[in-house]
Amino acid sequence: MQKLDRRQFIYCGAAFLGSLTPCYAFWRFGGGFPQTVPDDIRGHVFSGGAPQKPWKWSHEGFAYKKLGKDKVVCGICPHHCVLHPGDRSVCRSKVNIDGVLYSLAYGNPCAVHIDPIEKKPLYHFLPRTTAFSIAAAGCNLRCLNCQNWEISQFKPEDVRHVDLFPSAVVKRAQSSRARSIAYTYSEPVTFFEYMFDTARLARRQGIYNLLISAGYINRRPLKALCRVLDAANINLKSFSDAIYRRLNGARLKPVLDTFETLQEQGVHFEMTNLVVPGYVDDADMVRRMCTWIVAHLGPDRPLHFLRFFPRYKLDRLPPTPVSTLTRFREIAMQTGIRYVYVGNVPGHPGNHTYCHHCKKMLIERQGFRVPTYNLVGSRCRFCNTVIPGVWGEKG
Ligand code: SF4
Repeated sequence: MQKLDRRQFIYCGAAFLGSLTPCYAFWRFGGGFPQTVPDDIRGHVFSGGAPQKPWKWSHEGFAYKKLGKDKVVCGICPHHCVLHPGDRSVCRSKVNIDGVLYSLAYGNPCAVHIDPIEKKPLYHFLPRTTAFSIAAAGCNLRCLNCQNWEISQFKPEDVRHVDLFPSAVVKRAQSSRARSIAYTYSEPVTFFEYMFDTARLARRQGIYNLLISAGYINRRPLKALCRVLDAANINLKSFSDAIYRRLNGARLKPVLDTFETLQEQGVHFEMTNLVVPGYVDDADMVRRMCTWIVAHLGPDRPLHFLRFFPRYKLDRLPPTPVSTLTRFREIAMQTGIRYVYVGNVPGHPGNHTYCHHCKKMLIERQGFRVPTYNLVGSRCRFCNTVIPGVWGEKG
C-alpha cells in the first residue's frame, strides 16, 4: 500500500471530515440544513436599479450626505450605502436620482392592520390596547428565516400598497381608537422618513409610537427618533457576530448599541430572540447574552424567546423544540432577568407575567387575549411591588 506523506495525510483527513458534514446536517435537520453556508450574506447596492424619476411616494432622504458632485451616502443604518446616480440601496427603498437620495417608501404602506399590542410582542406597555400597524416594503437585513419575506425582500413599487400619507395614518389610527401606531412587519428603519413624520404628527395627537425592529440603525437617527418614540421591541437575533453575518446579513455590535441608546433615552423597550434550530440554540450563547443584558440594561427589561417555525430559506428546518425554549427561559431567569417570556407556544407558563417579588400571576394571556389582570396601576395586587413597564397613561 502506498504511504502518504504528512501533507497528503492532512488533505485526506480534511476531505473525509468534509464529506461527513452534510451527513451530520442531514441527520440532524432531516436534509433541511443548507449544504453550503456562506459566511456573510450581507446585501449589496443594486447598480442601476433606480427609476428614472421620483414617484408620488418619494421623499428626499433624511441623514444623507453628498459625496462629490452626484454620489450620495445614506446615514440611516450601518450599511452606509454609497449610491451613484441610478443606484438602489441594500434595503431596496432608497435610490439616487440625479444626485439626490430619495426614499421610495413614503406614504405607501403594503400592510395596514389593527393589532393587539400583545402581538408585537409588547407585554409591559399598555396591555389590552390596540396598535394601528403599518409597514412599507424593504429591509436592510437578509434573514434566511424571514417571516415576512414577501414584503421585506421586495421593492416598494413592486408590492401592492395603499395610499396613506402620515396625516392619513394618524386619522385612521384615531378613528380606529388605537392607542398607538406600530411601525412593524418589515423593517421600519428602511422607511425611516415615513415613520418619523408620522410619529411626529401622532405625538401631537396623543397617540403613542411603537418601533418593532431588528434595531440595525445608526445612533444619530435613532436618537432623533427617540424624541417621538414611546416603546420598542427589538429583535436580538443572536449574541454572535458570526451568526449575525451568516443568518441575518448584519452585525451584532450596532444592535447592542441600539439597546444602550434606547436605555439612555428613556424609551420603554422589550427584546425578542427567535430561537432558530442549528443557528441560535446554543445554551452558552444564551447565557452570555443574558449576562450582557443584566450588566448593561439591568434586570427589568422583558425578554421574549420565540419559537421558530420553518419559513423562507429555512423552510425545511424543524420548529424549535418547546423544551429548548423552556430551558432558555430558566437560564435567563437564573442569570437575573426578571421577566422572561416564551412566545408562539400556546398554553406555555412563559406566556404569562408573574410578580418578580411574590411570584404570583399578574397577567394571564391566552393568545393575544388577557383574561386575568392583577395589576393596580403599576403595582402587584398581592404584594404592592412596582412592576417595570408602562401600565396606564404615560406620565
Ligand atoms: S437605510 Fe437603506 S439606504 Fe440607508 S444605509 Fe441602510 S440599507 Fe442603505
